Amino acid sequence: MLPDTTKVEPVSSLPPTPAPDLDPTEQLFQDLEAKIREYRPREDLTPVEKAYQLAASVHHSQVRDSGEPYLVHPLMVSHILADMRMDQVTITTGLLHDVVEDGGVKPEDLKRDFGEEVARCVDGVTKLTKLDFFSAEERQAESFRKMLLAMVEDIRVIIVKLADRLHNMRTLVYLNQERRERIARETIEIYAAIAHRLGMGKVRGELEDLAFRYLDPQAHEEISAAIESKRHSTEEYLAEIRQVVEEELRKESIPARVEGRIKRPYSVYQKMKRQKIGIEQVYDLMALRIITDSVKNCYAALGVIHNEWRPIPGRIKDFIAIPRPNLYQSLHTSVVGPHGQHFEVQICTEEMHRIAEEGIAAHWKYKEGKKGAEPDDQRIAWLRHLVEWQRDMQDPGEFMSTLKVDLYPEEVYTFTPRGKVIVLPRGASPIDFAYAIHSDVGNTCVGAKVNGRIVSLRYTLRNGDSVEIMRQPGHQPSKDWLALVKTARARNKIKHVINANERLKAIEIGEKYFDKEARRLGVALNRVGKSDLERVAQEYGYGKAEDLYAALGYGKYSARQVLQKVVPGQFKEEVAEPAKTVPAMPESGTVAAAPAAHQRAGDDDVIKVKGLDDLLVYRAKCCNPIRGEAIVGYVTRGKGVAVHAKMCPNVQSLMYDVERKIEGEWARSAEDAFPVRVVVHTDDRPGLLAQLTSVLSGENANIRSLEAKTELDHDGALVEMTVDVKDKKQLEKLVAAMRRISGVRDVERQYN
Ligand code: MN
Repeated sequence: MLPDTTKVEPVSSLPPTPAPDLDPTEQLFQDLEAKIREYRPREDLTPVEKAYQLAASVHHSQVRDSGEPYLVHPLMVSHILADMRMDQVTITTGLLHDVVEDGGVKPEDLKRDFGEEVARCVDGVTKLTKLDFFSAEERQAESFRKMLLAMVEDIRVIIVKLADRLHNMRTLVYLNQERRERIARETIEIYAAIAHRLGMGKVRGELEDLAFRYLDPQAHEEISAAIESKRHSTEEYLAEIRQVVEEELRKESIPARVEGRIKRPYSVYQKMKRQKIGIEQVYDLMALRIITDSVKNCYAALGVIHNEWRPIPGRIKDFIAIPRPNLYQSLHTSVVGPHGQHFEVQICTEEMHRIAEEGIAAHWKYKEGKKGAEPDDQRIAWLRHLVEWQRDMQDPGEFMSTLKVDLYPEEVYTFTPRGKVIVLPRGASPIDFAYAIHSDVGNTCVGAKVNGRIVSLRYTLRNGDSVEIMRQPGHQPSKDWLALVKTARARNKIKHVINANERLKAIEIGEKYFDKEARRLGVALNRVGKSDLERVAQEYGYGKAEDLYAALGYGKYSARQVLQKVVPGQFKEEVAEPAKTVPAMPESGTVAAAPAAHQRAGDDDVIKVKGLDDLLVYRAKCCNPIRGEAIVGYVTRGKGVAVHAKMCPNVQSLMYDVERKIEGEWARSAEDAFPVRVVVHTDDRPGLLAQLTSVLSGENANIRSLEAKTELDHDGALVEMTVDVKDKKQLEKLVAAMRRISGVRDVERQYN
């Protein structure tokens, strides 16, 4: 989170040098109490004193790697917490955070002496403390789960943990190099990121800079030296512009205090890496922060700044109107200052400033007389998300990577050319953007310019992109777009247009089909009124004639069937009607392409579909149903009705579209035979094949093809054949007869 800067005047959280006659830890504790009294004058500090005494006795003979008494560590952690103005429970937890893990104190004792809240918080931190000595990723992830659960129970656990980590990082130099690197990496990847998401800019900044020092000592050294060499001139410069700003703000009666800030080494490093530039090219090493009393005055102050110095285009950011996901708010601008130097100005209110520095800790509302504090729902919402994600995941490694990735915002903020903000989910494309503006813009979108450059519609939008949609009147969305969009809105609008277009095509085809069939049957359509058509449409359950045409186009009914209802008795039933010449709506969109499918399937007219005896039907190729088998019809797009065996594995997946399902049954009279593929598993012995064929001929079944092969891994044989059978009954008889042959292990019907 911004600010990526630290105040020029360093504010030390360290207490003054201890008086020579006092034990250093005793002095630290007295300073701690004084610090708490400053912001919580009426607080009863008895538990804090008791905690200090317990920590002192538990850690009394322990020494840190630095050689200091161990007790210094919990005291310093508590100082960090007091600097954040945390409540008594948090500070007590800070003092006690290592007494269970390192001092063997029992959780029950803590509960008895300090109450349930403190005991629970210490327990939470204790679990996390094991993280500092992880070796396998699995163990770390496991602990993270506990951490997250603990955090959601009580967010103060993570605040204590961050303070603990901060002090450990400050004293990391005393550890060996391997441990230093490992802890530094974990700090930057996990703890700094968590501090960031909790909006704790100050903690995050310090954690990052400390970790950076150990992860890339050389780069850290170079950047720090460069910043240091410029420090004197930078500070002079800041003092100069600060004076100007203060004066101008006074003239406009804007109450404000002005802070000069210098960019942090890690933030400079990231900028150099991101923009592939050297330190000498980082111009905005410094920033000014103006802290005023109201939002109105923030904007007024921005006006004052822009009136004084020329703003750099594209660098004005309004995080007041659009807060960062971690609730950071501020106005940012970069200007060309005196002597052509660039610098950044951040403008915010006192409240925003505190949130920028302390994040969730700033929100810590202490209510006297009430236990604990109320969690800030918005801020811990992301923690709940993390917990939900980790429940779905089995692999701890996967969890770790998700934790790292998903610490980044889920949303992307983009702008229209006029500066309107469009918030989209991460991964959104220009098409999402176009539909977010208006469905007409989406439908006619043919391209996009992002930040002035033409991009593909597959482009993934990024934060801060300014997007201009290129349109072409009359353009229509394509099905391919469905794969490119992330928003439900865009998806629905695209589907809507596609469906509407398909329907238009179906109406057109249905109408042609109807006219052609009428001509063929000699029905004079000029005598058919619109009302006749509408009457029939209603019989079929449709509102308009158009709907009936569409149904014809989709192949739900035949034109002849409809004509019979429109002009009853005008033409005779033909006994052997030739294959329907005008098909339903072909998928390719050309009318000529379709009839083949139907004509090819010569046995189609042996199937009747219940209630609708004149449909364009054919046997589905996947299962080739035979007479006697339970069948079900499926209205295809443009090819009529496909008839599947109810057993067909495809049926289940097809029938999700219940509206396209049609009950079917077999015609009674037809005598045709159906080809069926059968596989016979047998022992590998001579004469068996001859026996099989004789059984088949004995049942009057014609064998179309037959192939036998040895099954290598089962010391048996496999016979594959295609046999003509009349119906299911005959097939069952055949299968039973084959199974009776000795040496036949199994007979299977193949559905494809
Ligand atoms: Mn500790």
